[in-house]
Amino acid sequence: MSVTEKINLLDFNRAALEAFFISNGEKPFRARQLMQWVHQRGITDFAQMTDMSKHLREILQQHCSIERPRILEQQKSADGTRKWLLSIDDSDNAIECVLIPEKNRMTLCVSSQVGCTLNCSFCSTAKQGFNRNLTTAEIIAQLHFAHHALLAEGYQQGVTNVVMMGMGEPLLNFDAVIAAVDMMCDDFGYALSKRRVTISTAGVVPAMLKLEQVTDVALAVSLHAPNDRLRNQLVPINRKYPIAELMRACHSYIDGYKSRKITFEYVMLDGVNDSLEHARQLARLIGDIPCKLNLIPFNPYPHADYRCPDQATIDRFREYTASKGIVTVTRRARGDDIDAACGQLVGDFHDRSRRSSKHQLSISDIKGVRLAH
Ligand code: SAH
Repeated sequence: MSVTEKINLLDFNRAALEAFFISNGEKPFRARQLMQWVHQRGITDFAQMTDMSKHLREILQQHCSIERPRILEQQKSADGTRKWLLSIDDSDNAIECVLIPEKNRMTLCVSSQVGCTLNCSFCSTAKQGFNRNLTTAEIIAQLHFAHHALLAEGYQQGVTNVVMMGMGEPLLNFDAVIAAVDMMCDDFGYALSKRRVTISTAGVVPAMLKLEQVTDVALAVSLHAPNDRLRNQLVPINRKYPIAELMRACHSYIDGYKSRKITFEYVMLDGVNDSLEHARQLARLIGDIPCKLNLIPFNPYPHADYRCPDQATIDRFREYTASKGIVTVTRRARGDDIDAACGQLVGDFHDRSRRSSKHQLSISDIKGVRLAH
């Protein structure tokens, strides 16, 4: 092989691995073998990949690696929710992923960026600024850890669903996310059905339009407000891509696909977006799109400017949208005893935008804050 630096093969989906092996004089089926070792059997040491020749294993060892972030901390909540804090780089940078067990599934909430640039007004990740995009290896490693931890404990299936609802905006880290999603769905990777992998976006419209060209995984849209005036405040990317454009992109994603539905996420903020009038506007806005509505009761965090509405207000909202024929679910907070509930992240990291200091958050504050999913 002509390479001089170690290449992290965890960054490569099957197509990239095949190209890599071919360009190094090997047969493309080596890609499938390698993927099975790494993703299905959890083996990251080339020496143990016994269906490859000794010579090839030695060459891989010399020039390549299967490099995952380090686990800094692992926690398990009383309700079974687990959280991993993963160290990336040799710095303070850390990300979290959360595993949510339910009756018939194990859902993993995966991060795509260290921090976020979108600055949604109610989101704790936004308060922490933005450091960098995660690599494909760092994204797929979250699934690797969780899946093999479950298999090692005797769970037959491991992770059954992935939601890209952790830290960051997946569609602003497009190529790395798509390569990781490829591995999630690949028969030689995690073989998840496309219906069981969800990409969540705050509404990066051009990337949504690109997404439909390259994959057909499930799409969730963080709507949070039924009109532009309110959404401009809560989700500032709305000023660039207003609701009408967002809705056109949603239609475009599902048009022509009978089984596709959009999941709209709507964080419930006390006195802000939770009135019956908001519910009416929302029902008018999304009523003609095949969709599901997820109401997310706001999860508080230190220095938050918002509160969660009372249960009666949330129920009234849900009953109204449901009465208009929209399948509406209120998301239960999970894992809040280990700070893993929906909407609040995460581990330490260097804030290049210094937004956290503007919000007077100290690193110790950030440590206790929870993961968005
Ligand atoms: N950037 C993507 C992926 C993040 S998903 C997106 O916006 O869709 C995380 C979800 O949790 C989003 O819907 C986000 O708006 C929501 N969220 C963020 N902070 C929250 C909080 N404090 N309480 C409840 N939900 C929150």
